[in-house]
Amino acid sequence: MDKKKEKKDPKQQKKLWISLIVLVILLALLVGLILWMSQNKAKEEEKTLAYTDLIKEISYGNIEKIEMTVGSTTAKVKLKNVEEEKTTIVPNTESFMDLVQTKIAEGNEMELIQKPRSIWLQIPAVFLNFLPTLIMVALFIMIFKMQGLGEKGKVYEETERKTKVKFDDVAGLEEEKGELIEIVDFLKKPEKFTKMGAKIPKGVLLYGKPGTGKTLIAKAIAGEANVPFISMSGSEFIEMFAGLGASRVRKLFDKARKLAPCIVFIDEIDAIGSRRTSNSGAETENNQTLNQLLVEMDGFGSEETIIVLAATNRPEMLDKALLRPGRFDRQITIPTPDLKGRLAILKIHSKDKRLSDNVNLESIAEDTAGFTGAELANILNEAAILATKNEHEDIENEDIEEAVKKVTVGLEKRERVISEHDKKLTAYHEAGHAVVSRYLPTQANVKEVSIIPRGVAGGYTMYKSDEDKYYVSKTEMLEKLIALLGGRAAEKLVMNDISTGASNDIEVATKIARDMVTKYGMSEKLGPIDFQGKEAYEIQLFGENIGDKIGQEVKDIIDTAYSDAQHLLVEHRDKLEAIAQTLLRQEKINEAEFETFFDE
Ligand code: ADP
Ligand code: MG
Ligand code: ZN
Repeated sequence: MDKKKEKKDPKQQKKLWISLIVLVILLALLVGLILWMSQNKAKEEEKTLAYTDLIKEISYGNIEKIEMTVGSTTAKVKLKNVEEEKTTIVPNTESFMDLVQTKIAEGNEMELIQKPRSIWLQIPAVFLNFLPTLIMVALFIMIFKMQGLGEKGKVYEETERKTKVKFDDVAGLEEEKGELIEIVDFLKKPEKFTKMGAKIPKGVLLYGKPGTGKTLIAKAIAGEANVPFISMSGSEFIEMFAGLGASRVRKLFDKARKLAPCIVFIDEIDAIGSRRTSNSGAETENNQTLNQLLVEMDGFGSEETIIVLAATNRPEMLDKALLRPGRFDRQITIPTPDLKGRLAILKIHSKDKRLSDNVNLESIAEDTAGFTGAELANILNEAAILATKNEHEDIENEDIEEAVKKVTVGLEKRERVISEHDKKLTAYHEAGHAVVSRYLPTQANVKEVSIIPRGVAGGYTMYKSDEDKYYVSKTEMLEKLIALLGGRAAEKLVMNDISTGASNDIEVATKIARDMVTKYGMSEKLGPIDFQGKEAYEIQLFGENIGDKIGQEVKDIIDTAYSDAQHLLVEHRDKLEAIAQTLLRQEKINEAEFETFFDE
């Protein structure tokens, strides 16, 4: 404080006292709130599970129990084969609840416990919305004034460890590894590069679907360079307290500076780094977190050997500021593995498993086009479990094939009782898919048709995926739609009634048709314009009532495909009947049997 100001007039002194008292009260509130929060959260903070990982586990059916408090964004998760409960921060609770409830409705054995709000939250809504915001705004201002006070205590938890993962553990992805090897060199011998005046990227963004190995490859870089791996997930930065997200980022980088050379890995960066658009509360908070991240990344020079790796599966969501030079100026796409990659991944993950001689990994790799590394690893794990269940000496080929089906369509449920009517409906539905796709040149061969319930499906038609395609043509997409709607068309044609069994087909078909129009620019009328992820007003910029036209186009595409499917089935009604009847008799038809219907 300034010497001159020491002689204050009483008014000023009074002011100082008042602000001190206010500060003390606010601090007490802050402490109270933190204590209250930590009471609820202390345990949960110990083990966290990234949101994307939770979604993965749900789809694998590995969840035993999910517990959520109404109005909270944290879910307590109990995995089937893990002792302790984990917590996950759920970005959108509403859609997450929807997802869980649908999964349960579909027959997944998991328990959902919805806890009522605590008494605190039962205070009338207006008050509820009003009071915490007020306190938080006040706190926020105070925290900033007091510089760093808010950072005391356990406000974040990032994991830091030396990983043992090496590039050899990452199968396929040879080009990507080739690109990343220079980062390993840099982490090992930074002087070599700086002497040369070379600028090494500070940040590398890894784009790719969940389970493609982004985390794995990031760990492998740290492992190869033998440096610490500090990681945090974007969703963990999203905090109730304004300003804490930013403070977490600051602490993360403080730690990184101490441990340098090291790798900082930010998973799900889209959670904080999505485009700064509106000014709503949550957005502002995110902005601060994002701004802090940008400040940190701009702040360290090349003397500090810190490489920031970040992963996302939604690159289009990211704020452009993240991609500027000196930040994440290098972007690497981690693709879903091609045939060679899948084989390599299967080989790596079967190394520690006992495979029987009859296992043909090549053919498994052929059958799993579109699968990610995580799904392939999961298949081998499932196969090992099935082999144990079936009391096989080693993992047999049939165990793996069964595991593939389990992962794609769910577990076979022979014991489920089905009425004759439902059985017939399913038989015609599946035969409809199979027959229609048989007459569509771009569609893959049928590998198996079954009316044995599996997972949520009453039956299924499996196709042989013999190719990895990078591009899909319009014809192919149109024919895919016809094949998808073949099930519903057959129900209508034969039973003159339609069922809910086609809901998934319809969902997929609608998405394809919408993507064709709004993403791939395949509509003649609307032209090659990307309408996806645009706000209504942005779409309006392309012309009057353009939203209606998009809807109309999507509908036209679907309608045409549905009527094409019906025509094909009317024309080949004999095949439809023969296959459906065979299905009713023997429940399953394999590839060779299926082809016999089309001989001559
Ligand atoms: P992402 O971070 O992209 O969601 P992960 O790196 O977490 O995916 O991958 C999950 C798991 O899947 C890994 O732990 C590994 O077992 C397996 N996996 C994925 N890709 C590969 C790969 N290319 N090689 C070997 N295993 C892989
Ligand atoms: Mg990951
Ligand atoms: Zn279907």
